[in-house]
Amino acid sequence: MIRYSAAWVIPIAEPPIRNGWVAVDRGRVVALGRRSPPDSGKDGFADHDLGRVALLPGLVNAHTHLELSYLRGEIAPASDFVTWIRRVMAARRLRPDPNAREVVHSVEQAIDETIRCGTALVGDISNTLVTFAPLAISPLAAVVFYELIRFNPSDAERLVEAACRQLEGLVPTERVRVSLAAHAPHSVAPLVFRAIRRAVDRDPFAPCSVHLSESAEEVEFIKTAGGPWRALLDELGVWDPSFVPPGGTPVQYLDDNGFLDGRVLAVHGVHMSAADLARLAARGTTLVACPRSNGHTGAGAPPLEDFYASGVRVAIGTDSLASAPDLNVFAELATMRALAPSIPASALLDSATRQGARALGFESEYGSIEPGKRARLLAVAVPPAIGDVEEYLVSGIEPEQLRWIES
Ligand SMILES: [Zn+2]
Repeated sequence: MIRYSAAWVIPIAEPPIRNGWVAVDRGRVVALGRRSPPDSGKDGFADHDLGRVALLPGLVNAHTHLELSYLRGEIAPASDFVTWIRRVMAARRLRPDPNAREVVHSVEQAIDETIRCGTALVGDISNTLVTFAPLAISPLAAVVFYELIRFNPSDAERLVEAACRQLEGLVPTERVRVSLAAHAPHSVAPLVFRAIRRAVDRDPFAPCSVHLSESAEEVEFIKTAGGPWRALLDELGVWDPSFVPPGGTPVQYLDDNGFLDGRVLAVHGVHMSAADLARLAARGTTLVACPRSNGHTGAGAPPLEDFYASGVRVAIGTDSLASAPDLNVFAELATMRALAPSIPASALLDSATRQGARALGFESEYGSIEPGKRARLLAVAVPPAIGDVEEYLVSGIEPEQLRWIES
């Protein structure tokens, strides 16, 4: 039983505590408060002063693709999204074996980097499931989303059931779970969306994920079935002539198909309208912002201030190393701060912790410092003369400034 004291405790569930403490027993938080109680050291807790640090819960990277880590620095930035996707497809074709030693090694390195950057929990998108085994033996908690991409399936139901069989072959650990994801409205058939939804609904707690309203080209495709996405589907030989353009926005389309609810992580949202955001807020869907990736892929800058003003739940992801320079959620926070100066730092920190944990179904374990939750705690060194510690934490924290608290 240890009681850590720190210059600041950032519980997330309540405002920062100046000169705070957190008591930990067998890896769980048992209590927290301001200044050590007077019977300090006599109540069975060993006191440990961490000094001039901010103690906060491990961060949550709600959207990444660890299996693409071998593409780090290999895909040049693009001025439009479909050009960027073509570059990724070409690079992936060069390494067709997902289990190649190089691919697995880059996943292991990415997991190490994720932990060094202060992340405790990830939402990991995988087309190959190669990330499950390395995650299962790592200290990270994760939901591995088996992501399906199919625009012209002969049998949507059978496709999804086959994916479920594969997931059943993986044994979830205490920290690593699996679920399904759909890639995006322009790459997944309506019947596949419905089949994924039905399969996910069999587990009342399973989250689900989809890239949504990421690019202007996606919005155009859903409205008209034309544009650069249509050209790419034609070129790949996967266009389905029976597809009728839904005509509205991508958010309307998925909602009309019953796909959106409180267990869905909708990723990106760069091109969502105010009505789209209101709809997501009403459904309880979590919107995952990945602004550095959006800049790199040519998708554009997400309207972050609109996100927060709409009342939608916002979480944060780095996306993959194909489109982000690193897996540091603190760096993503700094970009969000630069793009959206009016959002309170406390709201950004909430997005980087509690919102991601809730969306991934891990809110009873991660995302805040509260009695009963795992004591997966992070100490960030804070220089003297910092007035607003929350503002400091969203200014760009490097791995060298933080360490995990052993408990
Ligand atoms: Zn993604």
